[in-house]
Amino acid sequence: MGIRENIQKIKQGLPEDVLLVAVTKTRSADEINEARDAGITDIGENKVQEVMDKYDLVKPVNWHFIGHLQRNKVKYIIDKVSLIHSVDSLRLAEEIDRRAKEHGLVMDILVQINPADEESKFGVGLDGVKPLLLEIADKCENIRIRGLMSVAPFTEDPEDVAIYFRQVKTLYDELGKIDHHKVDFRYLSMGMSHDYKTAVTEGSNLVRVGTAIFGPRNYTK
Ligand SMILES: *Cc1c(COP(=O)(O)O)cnc(C)c1O
Repeated sequence: MGIRENIQKIKQGLPEDVLLVAVTKTRSADEINEARDAGITDIGENKVQEVMDKYDLVKPVNWHFIGHLQRNKVKYIIDKVSLIHSVDSLRLAEEIDRRAKEHGLVMDILVQINPADEESKFGVGLDGVKPLLLEIADKCENIRIRGLMSVAPFTEDPEDVAIYFRQVKTLYDELGKIDHHKVDFRYLSMGMSHDYKTAVTEGSNLVRVGTAIFGPRNYTK
């Protein structure tokens, strides 16, 4: 199946209020434009370099930054992306805030959670999310906190992963009630190609799907 058919099939299975972000890492600008012409409005990249290389070649879309972000590279993407999913420290938030101020904009961010506390993954443990969120809200005037992002551990059985999604959803509902002008929850970003259906069942409203749209990635290209 081609990109267009894959997108149609995935969209048919998603409720209307779930945002499908096409994850375009390793994909060419042509492939991204093909996805856009097939109805994709939002794309996600995990490397600063790829955003910069492709930015001028891709027709207008909303860019999401979904990978680990080094502070010294924030300046390259601050005026290009509409949502940064991967904020997991105050220091990173402060750099985003500083660059956003320079550009006269308010950057939307998500706090990245590492629900299983896996060492191989970035993100804040479940207990650390609320303190971090409150600190960012108090200190970063040019940031708006729009929700949470989570990468679940890989399990053979997608049902096992439902437990993690459920924990993140519970936290999302709780933190969304915080009454602070910098906290304005809208996105619960969880679910990838192999587990997005489970994620949506458990309350995700933003799924990040790469392989199921574009096919397997070839990192040697
Ligand atoms: C690559 C990536 C995805 C998409 O993964 P697929 O399995 O190709 O759907 C989603 N989220 C993040 C953070 C990623 O790096």
